[in-house]
Formats: sequence, C-alpha cells, structure tokens
Amino acid sequence: MVSKEDVLSNSHKFLSKRGEEDLSGCIPFLGYLDRDGYGQFQFRSDSKKKNIQAHRAAYIIHTGEELCIDDVVMHSCDNPICVNVLHLSKGTQADNVKDMVMKGRCAIGVNNGRYIHGRYCKDKKVVSDYAGFEKGHIPVNMSIPIDLAYIVKDEIENREKGVSLISISKKYNVKYQFVRDISCGKILKFERN
Ligand SMILES: [Zn+2]
Repeated sequence: MVSKEDVLSNSHKFLSKRGEEDLSGCIPFLGYLDRDGYGQFQFRSDSKKKNIQAHRAAYIIHTGEELCIDDVVMHSCDNPICVNVLHLSKGTQADNVKDMVMKGRCAIGVNNGRYIHGRYCKDKKVVSDYAGFEKGHIPVNMSIPIDLAYIVKDEIENREKGVSLISISKKYNVKYQFVRDISCGKILKFERN
C-alpha cells in the first residue's frame, strides 16, 4: 500500500515525468505504462520499491488527499495515460461502472475481481448476494461486476411504465434472463448494505 506521504515526498520525481499538454489538454505520463495503458509511478521509499498508478499519484499530489483502496480516480477524458488533474475526479467503483456504461465501454467479463457469478466470488459481500438466489434456482451462466448488477436492479425498479426488460438488457449489454431474474426477485433479493 502506498501512502499519501510516500507520494508527496516523491512529488518532484513525479512532476519530472509529466509530458507536454496535447491539443485536448491531456498531459501524458512519460514513465512506465501497464498493459491497459495506465502510467505507473515507481519510486523508492524506505529503500523499498513502490508503485502506484500515475493518475492516482497526480490526484494525491494535487489535492493532498489520501486515497483508500475503494476510491477510484476517473478520467473525464477517458485517456488512461493522462495525468492532468483537471481531467481527474474521485468516485466510487459504482460511479466508475456507471461512467463506463454511459461511455459504452462496460467491463463485462473483464477479470477485475468483483463479480456476481458464484464461481468468481472472492468477496464476501458477493457471496452473500449469491446466497440470495432462490433454492434450486440455477443462476444464469454469466459474470458481471456486482456494481453493475445493482445499477441494473435500480433501473428495473425505477423504470417508466412501458419500458421492457429486454430494452434494459440491451442498454446494459447483459443477458435478458439476468434482468428477468432480478425483476422477479430470484437474484439480488436483498438491498445492498
Ligand atoms: Zn486527459
């Protein structure tokens, strides 16, 4: 875990790795990039190698705030290499999923750890949601991020008259069976706590 102090005491090194602002106002990170194109800020602290995503480091240096593990720093420019703080904002994982859905780059099936499908459950919260399946009901064979599942549930519960479950499944690119199962209370029966 990289603390705020770690990042702040290495801010001079971080700032030296910022590139030139481009026409869209994005500032690229010039250091190492991960597979997904996010900059990785690497430094030493207490003679240990440390590593944090560059846009998270930029956010910490700009705001002086500590980021906890559930905080997500989002790009309004959708450009993972960008470290311009004007393009960054802090949100929750649920905000991030909403943002992804709105921008049409939903992370269905991506191996990022929090899925509703039992086989992928690593998180106890997910397991207890999974336990909300009715006895004997075989869940749809798909995995979607738990946050997206709750967004779909909200949408079903608050939909206007005449909006079909099929249209919701299309909107979020999830199987119709899944939407139907939420709608009739077979899955996600419990409110999120
Ligand atoms: Zn940007």
